[in-house]
Amino acid sequence: MRTPIIAGNWKLNKSPKETQEFVDAIAGKLPAASKVETVIAAPAVDLPALVAFAKNSELKTAAENCYFEDEGAFTGETSPKVLSEMGVDYVVIGHSERRGYFHETDEDINKKAKAIFRNNMTPIICCGETLEQREAGEAEGWIAGQIKAALDGLSAEQVASLVIAYEPIWAIGTGKTATADQAEEMCAHIRKTVASLYNEATAANVRIQYGGSVKPANVKEIMSKEDIDGGLIGGAALVPESFLELANYQD
Ligand code: PEP
Repeated sequence: MRTPIIAGNWKLNKSPKETQEFVDAIAGKLPAASKVETVIAAPAVDLPALVAFAKNSELKTAAENCYFEDEGAFTGETSPKVLSEMGVDYVVIGHSERRGYFHETDEDINKKAKAIFRNNMTPIICCGETLEQREAGEAEGWIAGQIKAALDGLSAEQVASLVIAYEPIWAIGTGKTATADQAEEMCAHIRKTVASLYNEATAANVRIQYGGSVKPANVKEIMSKEDIDGGLIGGAALVPESFLELANYQD
């Protein structure tokens, strides 16, 4: 039985003060973690306020990125060891904005996944195709390649515990949502890919999110699909009322 996971991705938005205002607004209003796991991925500077709130609430926390080394001469990077010490639960890796703007490769993402597990946190691994790839009929092969590369060398137990976010690039921040059927089709494909790389039990346990213009108006339909276990949500997760509607989509 996979617990649904609704995660907000704040990207480069909100200050520590705004983070405090956000958590004050959602306090006491999140679903029980056994029903729906709720996560906020925030800029590193906002994580202390988020982690402090999470200690006494149902919320889990995520960094939006980390480096694959724990320490050393890597100016400007964030250490997974430090994130773990701070009490952060998840790290989002491989977001298309990081792949696109910051030239992150599949190899970097694989090294980061290993570093996150080494530091007792859980990766949320993003994958997704461009519109050109989809129109050329290359999306399935592309996604399978991204998954294979990201998971390389991870154990079946690790893969069963992690989260994969399918985020078609053409649907992120564009207002263009993939239809629930398109999202389901690719999430089912990702699950089959995991089964072929590992086994059926691992594939049955891994949680797969859809991301790309998810909002209160479409979350129910998306979450009704068999292979979709959650959402990774940008714009609609910035406002407390909207995040609460997403988190409480079952009500
Ligand atoms: C995202 O930030 O990963 C995302 C899917 O953004 P949006 O929900 O705004 O499309």
